[in-house]
Amino acid sequence: MNNMDLLVSLSKRRGFVFQSSEIYGGTGSCWDYGPLGVELKNNIKRVWWRDFVQARADMVGIDASILMHPTVWKASGHLDHFTDPMVDCRECKHRFRADHLDALAWVHYCPATKGNKFTIPAGEPCGHCGQRRTLCPNCGKGELTPPRQFNLMFKTFMGPVEEEAALTYLRPETAQAMFVNFDNVLQSMRLKLPFGIAQAGRSFRNEITPGNFIFRTREFEQMEIEYFVNPNDRVEGRPADEYWHDRWIEDCLAWFRRYGLREENLRLREHERDELAHYAKRTVDIEYNFPIGWSELMGIANRTDFDLKQHAKWSGKSLTYFDEDRKEHVVPYVVEPAAGVDRALLAFMADAYREEEVRGEKRVLLRLHPELAPVKVAVLPLLKKRDDIVRAAQAVRADLAKHWRVVYDDTAAIGRLYRRQDEVGTPYCVTVDVQTVGDGERGETGDGRVTIRERDSMEQIRVLVAELAGVFRELLAGAAWPSVAGRYPPARG
Ligand code: ATP
Repeated sequence: MNNMDLLVSLSKRRGFVFQSSEIYGGTGSCWDYGPLGVELKNNIKRVWWRDFVQARADMVGIDASILMHPTVWKASGHLDHFTDPMVDCRECKHRFRADHLDALAWVHYCPATKGNKFTIPAGEPCGHCGQRRTLCPNCGKGELTPPRQFNLMFKTFMGPVEEEAALTYLRPETAQAMFVNFDNVLQSMRLKLPFGIAQAGRSFRNEITPGNFIFRTREFEQMEIEYFVNPNDRVEGRPADEYWHDRWIEDCLAWFRRYGLREENLRLREHERDELAHYAKRTVDIEYNFPIGWSELMGIANRTDFDLKQHAKWSGKSLTYFDEDRKEHVVPYVVEPAAGVDRALLAFMADAYREEEVRGEKRVLLRLHPELAPVKVAVLPLLKKRDDIVRAAQAVRADLAKHWRVVYDDTAAIGRLYRRQDEVGTPYCVTVDVQTVGDGERGETGDGRVTIRERDSMEQIRVLVAELAGVFRELLAGAAWPSVAGRYPPARG
């Protein structure tokens, strides 16, 4: 199994991601987040919102509707330009994105070897006859049609009549709502440049070749920021838009590292002049080394004043900012850090996935950052036949669950229970045992302590039940395990 297959299988088995409408055979490229997946996804969005909106004095958020006025998409350029070039095979009818063809391995019937069939790596010529691919990479026989431009926006109708006048679109990005609400936000919040508007929400693209699990789907979530700057300002001797563009690239990279993506799996890619979007002055992608190879995790574009000018033109409303110092109206420039929630989730899972050998047995674990982990603490009774142990464990769960996502599990032996939690990334397990509650029949009282086991080191300490919430408050706020564990006695084997 390759790494992607391992993740798909773990996701299904443990309730992270299921294929959409699976009992009907599945819907192409649509996925449903299960009980653990929804927690992980919410945690990603929550920390993003906290770090980039709530913690900053220069940011605010909105939550706009998915259906917008159709003219938005004319003004933004999506109706005319949001297309991908598509080609079809005349034989096997397979459909491809013309600009992705050279990234595919191709089937070749080689004339120099009596027509033997080979599969040749992407972009390489045949080692026998030297030919390069001209036919369909999938069947190796069919001619490909010339490229046609295919608009990726999903069409729908607003209201009960299906006619041209009611035609509208599902938004293909969340960004446009920040531009069309620019003046509402500016006026209602009395903001000064530079400031940003953030939004997380669903976007829809009728991708020609979706796939690779949740990497490219037709319905997905984005976390986007439009950061408006005064183009006449200079910061540290540079134009403000260029300065802030670099700042956002650094901040976004640092954010992914902070929540666990390893340095060696992240890199920046500068867009070449000829691939820049029509509105962009400069675009840099943060790429991640996904199980499918290096691919875009997020993009950070300098969109200049293109969007505000376009919406001002099409709506007839002024979308400017009054620069008090210079006593003039300016159209702000905008820097756009745009990330995909689903791609971030895939990257966090891929990076966290580990297989280790512990005492001759395979241990699978997700070393998710505690802030991202779907479950923070699992409470496990050592003996489920003992009512007093079960009652104490359930009380611990109920108490901790006031603050965090905490689960109780008694459906297997302890070793098995630990392995299950490791596999879904639960950073801490709490075990309630005979020592905790004592033995009433023998007249022994318990010590009121439970065992906390840490996922990565598998170290165990004994902590008073009364102190548990305080200990987890420290640990889950980011305190290092050794600094907390050092204050408590280790648990005996
Ligand atoms: P790609 O080149 O992979 O199609 P893009 O450059 O068109 O992506 P943007 O328009 O910059 O993507 O969107 C910002 C982010 O939204 C991307 O970096 C990605 O994380 C996410 N995203 C875009 N399209 C999809 C999709 N079809 N499925 C999942 N996530 C997506």
